[in-house]
Amino acid sequence: MSKEPSVAIIGAGLTGLTAAYFLQKEGVDAQVFEATCRIGGAVTTRREREYLFEQGPSTLLRGSPVLERLLHELDLEKDLTPPNPEAKKRFVVRRGQPVALPAGPLAFPFSPWLSFKGKLRLLTEPFRKRGPETKGETVAAFAERRLGREVLDYGVNPFVGGIYAGDPKRLAVALAFPTLAEAEEKGGSLFRGFLKLAKEKKKARGGAPRPPKGTVSFAEGLEKLPQTLAEALSEKPVLKSPLQKAERTGDGRWQLTFAGGESKVFEQILITTWSEELAATLPSPPERETWPEIRYAPVQVVTLAFPRATVGHALDGFGVLVPEVEDLPFLGVIFASSLFPGRSPEGEVLLNLFIGGERHPEAAAYNEEQVRQKILPSVAELLSIKAEPKFYAARHWPKAIPQYTLDHHSFLLSSQAAEKAWAGFFLAGNMVDGISMPQCLESGHKAARKILSARGKDT
Ligand SMILES: Cc1cc2nc3c(=O)[nH]c(=O)nc-3n(C[C@H](O)[C@H](O)[C@H](O)COP(=O)(O)OP(=O)(O)OC[C@H]3O[C@@H](n4cnc5c(N)ncnc54)[C@H](O)[C@@H]3O)c2cc1C
Repeated sequence: MSKEPSVAIIGAGLTGLTAAYFLQKEGVDAQVFEATCRIGGAVTTRREREYLFEQGPSTLLRGSPVLERLLHELDLEKDLTPPNPEAKKRFVVRRGQPVALPAGPLAFPFSPWLSFKGKLRLLTEPFRKRGPETKGETVAAFAERRLGREVLDYGVNPFVGGIYAGDPKRLAVALAFPTLAEAEEKGGSLFRGFLKLAKEKKKARGGAPRPPKGTVSFAEGLEKLPQTLAEALSEKPVLKSPLQKAERTGDGRWQLTFAGGESKVFEQILITTWSEELAATLPSPPERETWPEIRYAPVQVVTLAFPRATVGHALDGFGVLVPEVEDLPFLGVIFASSLFPGRSPEGEVLLNLFIGGERHPEAAAYNEEQVRQKILPSVAELLSIKAEPKFYAARHWPKAIPQYTLDHHSFLLSSQAAEKAWAGFFLAGNMVDGISMPQCLESGHKAARKILSARGKDT
């Protein structure tokens, strides 16, 4: 380790660990501080009795450059688990029944997912005029304008529920789904825009092979990734050390105070997590009295096991998502034991039920009795389950996913202004660079590059 002034990284989730990994690789004395007693942040795999289950993210999408680099450098490719080939179908509830989404263009005309009218409306997308500026447009307005009401209700709405636990009427299309906005901008329609974007990507790749695609996990679950990242660090994360105060010193450095009163001065700090409490530990952003609020969707993840023979549905897919118009009290169910092998014993199935979100925020806080009374009967009806669960585990996430609403622009502007105005201050993570795990890895890497560049070390 060099004797250079050091970097403090707040948060031992994927963003913070990735930033630390790339900084320490360059010989920078970077130290991660974590509030809780574990690393991984949202990534939470548990093994209980004969069950292996995820209480945070369930699947990791391959293909992003930083993820692929980490899988290679950490020798993790051999531990990847692809999904079972039989689990390809994705279901959406329609008229109270799980309906498989069409597997391809040939299946589209025969699929019960949309009505004849809905299908016709979708097919007219390439001929619809380009819209006004998408900057102030919500996902719902964009989807209805380009794809029609039915695709909004039965396609976009359940997927926004599945990805953001969010409400398409609140999310800004340019922030939550920037590729959609870019495709329309480039091609005048999504159809032509995606063709253009694919061509541009191919050109940018040159002759290089396509990056791997598809969702994966690890044999031991997703926590394998943060654990391996942490093991690769020469300076291990300091646990049970919540940041309590960050102050700029007279000479442009940062004095951090942690719970317990310990205080230390750092040349640079990287914040990879957000909450009102954390915002209160920082100076006010330039030209504002307080940090703009970020809206978070709360989620509860409930893991359930049943004897296979008591479940009528074949569970032959990834899972089922619930459109808001279907008025069921949950967001969706992942068929966890169908998706990846080794999740439950022979003769049993394991499900991950997602409750709450922007749609039913109060349900994210339900206790077990309330979930059993108010939610499980609807799940049982949808999947024809004839028994009580033989295993039940719940995890509450009061602030699961940041919502990229139209107001979120203010937070992004403030964070950019702070980075510009304050030497040695950096922000990364799911509140600024995208909510998926690969986006958080990219965000951690980007932050490490910015920090290195500020130290005159270009990578
Ligand atoms: C229920 C759920 C399901 C999801 N499903 C998927 C999925 O299937 N696929 C996917 O790609 N993504 C999914 N995501 C999103 C993804 O998991 C997260 O966006 C990502 O893991 C966030 O990583 P991070 O490092 O930015 O933040 P976090 O993982 O939140 O880590 C931040 C860390 O900072 C710590 N911290 C907080 N305050 C302080 C403080 N004051 N001082 C020190 N430390 C502090 C926290 O304890 C935490 O460990 C899901 C998220 C949730 C919650």
